[in-house]
Amino acid sequence: MKLLFVGAGMSGAVAGRQLAEAGHEVHIIDRRDHVGGNCHTERDGDTGVMVHVYGPHIFHTDDEGVWDYVNRFATFMPYKNRVKTTSQGAVYSLPVNLHTINQFYGKTMRPAEARAFLEEQADTSITDPQTFEDQALRFVGPDLYAAFFKGYTEKQWGCSPTDLPASILKRLPVRFNYDDNYFFHRFQGMPEHGYTALVEQMLDHPGITVQLGTDYTPGMADAYDHVFYAGPLDGYFDYKLGRLGYRTLDFEKFTEDGDYQGCAVMNYGDRDVPYTRITEHKHFSPWESHEGSVCYREFSRAAEPDDIPYYPIRMVDEKALLADYVALAEQAQGVTFVGRLGTYRYLDMDVTIREALDVADAFLAAQTEGRAM
Ligand code: FAD
Ligand code: UDP
Repeated sequence: MKLLFVGAGMSGAVAGRQLAEAGHEVHIIDRRDHVGGNCHTERDGDTGVMVHVYGPHIFHTDDEGVWDYVNRFATFMPYKNRVKTTSQGAVYSLPVNLHTINQFYGKTMRPAEARAFLEEQADTSITDPQTFEDQALRFVGPDLYAAFFKGYTEKQWGCSPTDLPASILKRLPVRFNYDDNYFFHRFQGMPEHGYTALVEQMLDHPGITVQLGTDYTPGMADAYDHVFYAGPLDGYFDYKLGRLGYRTLDFEKFTEDGDYQGCAVMNYGDRDVPYTRITEHKHFSPWESHEGSVCYREFSRAAEPDDIPYYPIRMVDEKALLADYVALAEQAQGVTFVGRLGTYRYLDMDVTIREALDVADAFLAAQTEGRAM
């Protein structure tokens, strides 16, 4: 079969690779001039540093199948994401762990003491937290919430944490030991030569052709038996019901000699610092050595129509609109919506890859059983 993939990010590359290996003719287009989607990395011309062009990406998963899959296409170097945050004139370790708690309160508590102490701070009247703020007040209490989460979240999402779902904060653990690993997954690492090299390896198959700098137009579908669409869901329907809301990011790039901040990610919890974080990209490749350094100050704001859609907002209004677009998507024949934009969800790379593998399997099963998709 002739298959068109819109988007050469993780979704398109993985599903495309699977279906090419199954003998299909796969054509992948992307409007950008590179593959890799938002995971794209490239070397900075001046310093040689590998830069995460659309923001920092750390690969982490509990899914052994996904871990084995990505390791087919790249060597993964050991990497642990250890994030710091600057708040109220001091630097702390994230996610909130025993070091953070002891340093913040000037104490020397052991795990059980810290657990009991935070429980005293917490608002235990909140039994089933629904909002981001309730989740924070219930699990870390008002002081840590104000220092690390309230201002950052207002900057990141452009609204009050009382208007955001608890699920956003549930991504972050609270630990009563000195483990400062941001993620708690079994597997974590960085592709040695960056994510774009990883995706290029996935796309290196005789059944796959890639065409960059090419926007999808509806007429293109006629020449194919099926379309896999990893672009924005509302964009596929020409925004006819309205636009789904996104946050976009602006990156202010600067270069320094030596080491600017001593770590890869420094968050800024204070509301009056306009950016959310500074990333120093050479620290994402600690096995490399570079004299110069490339840093990004990261600012978040509501996406305008021409901006890159980064984070789906999924507030109440968006959820209603999303349901209407999902209904349209379910009626559409000959197209499967995949990925972060195609399904309008906040997906990490490992989930994106798992879903792309599953979509390819489902497509192959439908072919075998003679079902339309
Ligand atoms: P994308 O990467 O967005 O790819 C979609 C592609 O489709 C794009 O290249 C786009 O140009 C193209 N496209 C869209 N519309 C059209 C069109 N009409 N015609 C042609 N081409 C089109 N995940 C992690 O696991 N760890 C992390 O640390 C992490 N950090 C992140 C940090 C940021 C700032 C962001 C935004 C995301 C992060 N992610 C992280 C998530 C990760 O980026 C996604 O899981 C992954 O990129 C999703 O891949 P995708 O192929 O679905 O989408
Ligand atoms: N968050 C925060 N302070 C921080 C880091 C995160 O308030 O220092 C909040 C913020 O709302 C963010 C959410 O926790 O959207 C989830 O954090 P994560 O690091 O998973 O977000 P990502 O950068 O991956 O989107």
